Amino acid sequence: MTTSEPPATSDSVELLASHEARVGALLVRRALPQRRRRSVGAWCFADHMGPADVTEEHGLDIGPHPHTGLQTVTWLIDGQALHRDSLGSEQVIEAGELNVMTAGFGVAHAEEATGHYRGVLQGIQLWIAQDEERRHGAADFEHLADLPRLDLDAAQVTVFVGELHGARSPARTAEGLLGVELRARGRGTSVLSLRPDFEYGVVALTGRARLNGADLAPGALAYCPLGRDEMSLDLDDDATLILLGGTPLAEPVFMWWNFVARSRAEIDAAYDSWVADDGRFQSVSSALARIATAPPYWRARPRADSAGHSSSSTA
Ligand code: MN
Repeated sequence: MTTSEPPATSDSVELLASHEARVGALLVRRALPQRRRRSVGAWCFADHMGPADVTEEHGLDIGPHPHTGLQTVTWLIDGQALHRDSLGSEQVIEAGELNVMTAGFGVAHAEEATGHYRGVLQGIQLWIAQDEERRHGAADFEHLADLPRLDLDAAQVTVFVGELHGARSPARTAEGLLGVELRARGRGTSVLSLRPDFEYGVVALTGRARLNGADLAPGALAYCPLGRDEMSLDLDDDATLILLGGTPLAEPVFMWWNFVARSRAEIDAAYDSWVADDGRFQSVSSALARIATAPPYWRARPRADSAGHSSSSTA
């Protein structure tokens, strides 16, 4: 993790630099969480994956791993990937489609090559921190191939979570959240209506754009605090942006590895269940190896003769 620069500000837009990480076979730019910005609404994790060249046999190559207390939202802008999970789901996702997996008390999944797609893979993986009512609940998975689209002056907008300008995604997520893709249709300016009770973040996946005078390029997260009722985006003709919004989290969440929780004790329990394979996360039908990781940093290091867990990054 690189040290964050002091945030640059322009008309109350705060620009933060993503940091690079490796997830499975891919380098990612992690826009969330950051030390200075842990979340935007309930969005608590944002990885820009790729662009990368993948083959029929090698893609994300992320073996089975567990999640708790979150929803994963996968959105591709190029290529295809294969999702498998412990609910028995086996789903190819293509650019412009949505996968939402709900972890609740526990789920496991793998993200694999499709067996048929070769080419560029690029997208964003997001996590939504589940609220107290839902985070101990049942796991779920849904795939949505048809999402509402809007034409704004300079952009085609796809609403994958929540509602914007009357277009509402059918995805099963909590209220008070927004996730959209903006794809430039030639160079120009688009004005979006905002909710003053939402905070917003914009992640540039391709091309360049300007948000109230602040320059956006891949690797940047632009944060807009509460209290705005519109946003003016000036897009270059190759720009693809992700706009995230939501009501700020009511309480801070505690994240470690692939778990979103509220305490170390909850993380310890989830970690122990994954290591013991005690049924909380069930199994994923995948040829890839189950992912292991070292115990949480607050626990004693394992003795050298019992070490058997390789370290791996969040997936
Ligand atoms: Mn995952």
